Amino acid sequence: MPIKRLLFSLWMLLLAPALMAEGLPDLGEVSQGGLSPQMEKRIGESIMHDIRLHEPAYLEDPEVTAYVNRLGSHLVAQITEAHPDFEFFVLKDATLNAFAMPGGYIGVHTGLLLAAQSESELASVLAHEISHVTQHHLARQLGAQSQAQLPMLLSLAVAVLAARSNADLAAGALMAGQAAGIQQQLNYSRDFEREADRLGLRLLQHAGFDTRGMAAFFERLQKYGRIYENNAPGYLRTHPLTTERIADMENRIEGSPYRQVPDSLDFLLVRAKLRAAEGTSADAITDFSVQVAEHKFTSEAAARYGLARAQMRAEHFAGAERELAALRRLGVHSAMIEGLAADLRLAQKDPAGAVSILTPALVRYPQERGLAYAHVEALLAQGEPRLALRATVDDLQRFPSDSHMHSLQARSYAALGKRLLQHSAQAEAYALQGQLVPAIEQLDLAQKAGDGDFYEHSAVDARLRQLKQRRAQEMKEAKDGKQQKSEK
Ligand SMILES: [Zn+2]
Repeated sequence: MPIKRLLFSLWMLLLAPALMAEGLPDLGEVSQGGLSPQMEKRIGESIMHDIRLHEPAYLEDPEVTAYVNRLGSHLVAQITEAHPDFEFFVLKDATLNAFAMPGGYIGVHTGLLLAAQSESELASVLAHEISHVTQHHLARQLGAQSQAQLPMLLSLAVAVLAARSNADLAAGALMAGQAAGIQQQLNYSRDFEREADRLGLRLLQHAGFDTRGMAAFFERLQKYGRIYENNAPGYLRTHPLTTERIADMENRIEGSPYRQVPDSLDFLLVRAKLRAAEGTSADAITDFSVQVAEHKFTSEAAARYGLARAQMRAEHFAGAERELAALRRLGVHSAMIEGLAADLRLAQKDPAGAVSILTPALVRYPQERGLAYAHVEALLAQGEPRLALRATVDDLQRFPSDSHMHSLQARSYAALGKRLLQHSAQAEAYALQGQLVPAIEQLDLAQKAGDGDFYEHSAVDARLRQLKQRRAQEMKEAKDGKQQKSEK
């Protein structure tokens, strides 16, 4: 378990601060008032890098990620005070959990996405987590610690927060005792829970969701907690859910008018997509077929979408195409439906068909990263690297910090036999992921590639100098940090 690995490395760090892991940012002086927002951001960022690179449960599905970020930013837009930029991500994990890391990184388990019975319910959990971040609860929770240890404790705390089951934690007997101690310290206090509930409820209300979703969902979580002792508590462990808390919430909601808020189509499609990928494809097909046949669904479009996805997974392409056609006849529109249509073409080795779907879809949905990636993939599969390259160049003008698009560009250059440009595009992809060492390696390879003109070589040399400087700066900061700590 990489989280375990992370936990282990942080544990080592706690034991021997002098052996400070290279990857961890220099946290500098901890001020009187605890951690500065900049420090919180750096801690969150470094853990986020680690999760992206090493956590196999990290869900790399641009459609699902885009959806939770859209929902999350709708809530974040209601915040009136200063706050960090938020980033929402999804972990493929059946347990019901969501957690906030310092600096505005919020993780949601697929289990929680599937357990939410309405978009308002899902929004209520996000709103609560957002409020833990804006109130700096994690940092304040550990605020009583000695100042020098605070950053490390906070990192460790986040690792424990993100650890996905008790079994994981117990696995390393070495760390179990320590982890349990940290766990005690970081269970949000009742006051913090109440504050996150109160502020979360306000965000929910201002964003136009049904505030009753919050109490309903938390009540269900509590019930799950009683029935499935090992499944539910991830969330309950870190957000102690008391009857008193639920009663508080209900009191607050009582006065507010009842508001029927319809779920967005994307919420329903995202859930159908996750459900279609879960368990065996045969079970998923049966589930969705029953829904469609017996009209047991909130949305026929989502049920047919899920059925098509499940059938595609089982390589029943004819059936999947039939569902897609039925879906089209319903007259609903979503980038996810275009994504499904293109995926179906690609799965049937028809990249040209995928391109003919994706080209107009991108005009209609120019912001959708999933469609943009699929478009380049389809062009490459079609044997059109020149067009693929053109697509990445155009796209990167609008989304210059998209590391995945830089990787696709590297593949396009590779297909064209341009080695210097291939390695320098891959270097940008790594640099954007915060991986300076492999980025520098790629630029070294670019220098030795044996192709490229004078200008391309100069650009590689300049970029290499820049990244080496940045790397040296980071090493120096880490070293200074170590010295500062040992002087104390
Ligand atoms: Zn909480």
